[in-house]
Amino acid sequence: MQQPAGVSLEQVWKIYDNGQVAVADVTFEAAEGEFLVLLGPSGCGKTTLLRLVAGLERVSRGLIRIGGQVVNEVPPRDRDIAMVFQNYALYPHMTVYENMAFGLKLRRVPKAEIDRRVRAAARVLELEHLLDRRPHQLSGGQRQRVAVGRAIVREPRVFLFDEPLSNLDARLRVEMRAELARLHRELGRTMLYVTHDQVEAMTLGQRIVVLNQGRIQQIGTPLEVYHRPANRFVAGFIGSPPMNFIEGRLEHRDGLWFVGEGGLVQVALPAAGWPYVRVGQAVTLGVRPEAVTIATPEQAMMQGTVATVEVLGAVANLHVRVGSLTVVAQVEATVRPEPEQLVSLRIDPARVHLFDAETGQALP
Ligand code: ATP
Repeated sequence: MQQPAGVSLEQVWKIYDNGQVAVADVTFEAAEGEFLVLLGPSGCGKTTLLRLVAGLERVSRGLIRIGGQVVNEVPPRDRDIAMVFQNYALYPHMTVYENMAFGLKLRRVPKAEIDRRVRAAARVLELEHLLDRRPHQLSGGQRQRVAVGRAIVREPRVFLFDEPLSNLDARLRVEMRAELARLHRELGRTMLYVTHDQVEAMTLGQRIVVLNQGRIQQIGTPLEVYHRPANRFVAGFIGSPPMNFIEGRLEHRDGLWFVGEGGLVQVALPAAGWPYVRVGQAVTLGVRPEAVTIATPEQAMMQGTVATVEVLGAVANLHVRVGSLTVVAQVEATVRPEPEQLVSLRIDPARVHLFDAETGQALP
């Protein structure tokens, strides 16, 4: 196999004929052999980005490079990439072997070489015993593996995946996730992987590009985007249940305080944590449910009544009404209160995020 190739986008725009700006000023680079995930909600431009890299769409402005070469004018078949789609149509009348071999046959790859590549891919994907079956004789997960196999036999320098697991049931998705991670380790190829599923992004990506409305919101490792979200969008999009947001102001008392929801929420902030903020500044406080705990009334930073309790096994999500807000706390299921009970809640001040109330940018 050849060396993997890096992929880079430089100030790339895609404006469709109807004026829709699908991709706006996007710059990022996937290193050689990197597993890079493009993550964002429906309509954020992820698929368009992948199609631009594949050459299925033309860029309106900007440069795309594969292996250092500008490919803007290079047709898809010469880009040395393979794409796996969400709707991978296998040919129903062909066997697994024939499905995997078909693309190579079209390219007039010699028979012996086709055979070598199909058998190598089948070994990696554990499809060897299924090579004579037809698609209808396979499970959903096996069919998906054949679709991946069709991409592997091309021995491309770059793999593009467009939500390849979204048609599988939850259990199979978990299985295939592990499979794809292993495949990446074994093949060492560059992989660009599009998904709207943050769990998939967190578990598969070496780095994640978070997109919204065609623009990059943040690029970072899974832990970076989780622990240090660049803005309110990223903070709210990554993490489940989502981060709580509380509007308020910073006040000076014996130190720096956050006061929100008409005084119902009061948090003493760590003095060293926020060197650049102003007293009086309007901010949004963000705190993940796992950093909200049940406290004694003396320790309370807010109080409210329990609206609903979702027990998830070891933990439970409490939805607590605090004024007009609903705050979610993730607590151990053994200590959970009942609906309508009054509870005192504490926020771990070390795990608070502050965002500018107007721009939504994280405050340093
Ligand atoms: P999803 O997860 O729903 O597939 P996505 O993040 O992949 O969404 P895209 O499919 O890239 O998003 O679409 C980005 C934006 O561009 C959307 O607003 C979409 O409606 C628009 N769009 C996509 N394809 C075209 C097209 N051929 N012509 C005009 N607008 C388009």
